[in-house]
Parts: sequence; structure tokens; C-alpha cells
Amino acid sequence: MEDCIFCKIANGEIPANIVYESENVLAFDDINPMAPVHVVVVPRVHVATLMDVSNGMMDEMISAVQEIAKIKGVDKKGFRTVINCNEDGGQIIFHLHIHILGGRKLSDEMG
Ligand code: AMP
Ligand code: ZN
Repeated sequence: MEDCIFCKIANGEIPANIVYESENVLAFDDINPMAPVHVVVVPRVHVATLMDVSNGMMDEMISAVQEIAKIKGVDKKGFRTVINCNEDGGQIIFHLHIHILGGRKLSDEMG
């Protein structure tokens, strides 16, 4: 999709520190990390929000999360995944993404 930052990263038009790639999924370090480990996992195709996900799409996304947790060394100690959806959820980039946060004890606050 034109003017979508994450599509541009997926196309190679914008650089990113890629940490994981599979057939339909790509992951890269967040440009403004909120924790020592902060990775963003995206589908290669443009899907705007969690509400636009269709059956089966998330399987490869979740496999990616598992692999990235191992790559980043947070699989044992733990990490948090976040999907912000639409305005109240704090979504800023309207290309579906899973945040992976870890590398320190995260705040108990969820909202
Ligand atoms: P969200 O609020 O869930 O839409 O989060 C969007 C995330 O994308 C934020 O954590 C940003 O720091 C991150 N972000 C924005 N632009 C880039 C970029 N060019 N490369 C990596 N991460 C980015
Ligand atoms: Zn996109």
C-alpha cells in the first residue's frame, strides 16, 4: 500500500534492522524502543488492523514471535506481546503489527 511505512520496510524501500524473515512475515527492531528488546512483527501484505485479520493469518505471526524470542534471548525469562488496535488502542501505524517487549521486568500496568 502506498505511503505505508511498514509496507515500505517490507519492500526494502525504507531500511530497518531486520531480525527475522519468513515467507509471509517480517520482523525488525522498533525505531523508538520502549525496552531493551523491542521488535515489531508484521505481515508482508498490508493488513490495516487486528480487526482485518482473517483466519489462519496469525499462525505464522505467532511462530515468528517464538523464534524472535529465542533470537533475542528472552524466551526463558519472558516478554510481552502487544497489538494496538485503532484509536483507543493507541495504534499509530495502520499496518498490523505485534510488538515484542522484553529484556527487563516490565511494568505491571496493562493500560
Ligand atoms: P503502534 O502505536 O502500535 O502503531 O506502534 C507503531 C510503532 O512503530 C512504534 O513503536 C514506532 O516506534 C514504530 N516505528 C515507526 N516507524 C518505524 C520505523 N521506520 N522502523 C521501525 N519502527 C518504527
Ligand atoms: Zn502496509
